Amino acid sequence: MKTLSTLTFANSYSDLPTSLGTQVAAQPLDNPFLIHFNPLVAEKLELASTTALDPSFINIFSGNTTLAGLSPLAMKYCGHQFGQYNPDLGDGRGLLLGEVLTSNGKKWDLHLKGSGKTPYSRMGDGRAVLRSSVREYLASAAMEGLGIATTHALAIIGSQTPVIREKIETAATLIRVAESHIRFGHFEYLFYTGQHDELQQLADYVIEHHFPALLTEAAPYAAMFKQICQRTATMIAAWQAVGFAHGVMNTDNMSILGLTFDYGPFGFIDDYEPSYICNHSDYSGRYAFDQQPAIALWNLSALGYALTPLLDKTEIDHGLEHYQTELQQQYSHNMRQKLGLTIADDTDTVLFSDLFQLLKQHHVDYTLFFRTLSYIAMDELPYSEHLFTSLFSCTSRLKTWLIGYQQRLLLEPNTSQRLTIMLQHNPKYILRNYLAQQAIEEAEQGDFQLIEQLITILAHPFDEHKDAEVLAQLPPNWGKHLEISCSS
Ligand code: AMP
Ligand code: MG
Ligand code: MG
Repeated sequence: MKTLSTLTFANSYSDLPTSLGTQVAAQPLDNPFLIHFNPLVAEKLELASTTALDPSFINIFSGNTTLAGLSPLAMKYCGHQFGQYNPDLGDGRGLLLGEVLTSNGKKWDLHLKGSGKTPYSRMGDGRAVLRSSVREYLASAAMEGLGIATTHALAIIGSQTPVIREKIETAATLIRVAESHIRFGHFEYLFYTGQHDELQQLADYVIEHHFPALLTEAAPYAAMFKQICQRTATMIAAWQAVGFAHGVMNTDNMSILGLTFDYGPFGFIDDYEPSYICNHSDYSGRYAFDQQPAIALWNLSALGYALTPLLDKTEIDHGLEHYQTELQQQYSHNMRQKLGLTIADDTDTVLFSDLFQLLKQHHVDYTLFFRTLSYIAMDELPYSEHLFTSLFSCTSRLKTWLIGYQQRLLLEPNTSQRLTIMLQHNPKYILRNYLAQQAIEEAEQGDFQLIEQLITILAHPFDEHKDAEVLAQLPPNWGKHLEISCSS
């Protein structure tokens, strides 16, 4: 395991076109202190977990000192926000600090979110509040625990630097770790500003560093686009199955590696509601939960259009079709796993739509429903409605569904693994909005114990944790419909 001073840094993004960024230093925070450090993320970097105790760690990642080997860069990108092209985006409050090279040849971007103003800050103050930093910190760990592709967060540092939002809050920094911070919006920027040679350089960089297997393809750019479509499909299929709503699927928040990226007003569904809108500022519901598959397609089309100097229409259409086929297949597969089904049957669509209708009608907690169902033996299913009385106000239609589900299970070649499969795909623990809110309120009072507990439990959300039953319960009434604003 390494320390900060023995980390090896790569500098691959110096190969990128220079118009993609501006070198700028982080601005120091006042009286910084460590809020939490995630040893599982440190492990990816081969960084000793004792690094958290090193005072220079806090100083470096609060912008108070520099570390040899880092060369902070604010990246320029553009993007479509709520469907409108915005040429004025970029790292306005974050910096790509450097890339850590590990012994297995893997490269990890270190990005400091909340690091102060950059040339792309526009009217913003360059800061991130503690509240939104805690949300991103917890969500990154929750998604990783669920096995969903995501950026990671190594640590969160608090401070006494005041920031003005709806009220005065304090600034924090979050150390984001990801294989890449390249967004759809990087390609859009180069395309719309007519930098088409640079666009090709960026594509070459992405293929070389992230999709090296495509180097030998006859049409590597088309293969790259198809790969991005594929990964986006995997990500969306996972979101829809687990009940995650991102909230701000602008093209500048879409990762070319299909990582869940840029956590803002996201939400995990409590009571099942397909039209769930977690972003309080999303008046039209553009980014509602059930719109995400279509929005990802829209975003991929925007990326495809930005790649027209490198791709022809057939290649773009092919990628977009691939997204749709993959999404359908992977989502169906994920949902079947949630019911412990190992083969596909023509009746599955009806089985699922009936279930969704029931869950919606009775405002049933999505996570608890599937977890409860997992534990019911196949021959008990028709007699198990009483186990759902805390979730359903009336269980007569549920009984009919349970009988149908039992009949469907009879078509399976083997149901001996049903419990195992279901427990591996129906988490007991998700990052409910109210839990994040509670962790924030306690952190604002200087108590970080709930953050610690959530980080530990959410790393293994499919396991039973006897001492953490309370974290798996239905949300209290105050925590059911919290409004999450975009301000962060
Ligand atoms: P986001 O909503 O975090 O995806 O950010 C959208 C755009 O606004 C990006 O270009 C950000 O860099 C910029 N931005 C967001 N918050 C701030 C802030 N407090 N200061 C400066 N720029 C910001
Ligand atoms: Mg963003
Ligand atoms: Mg309910």
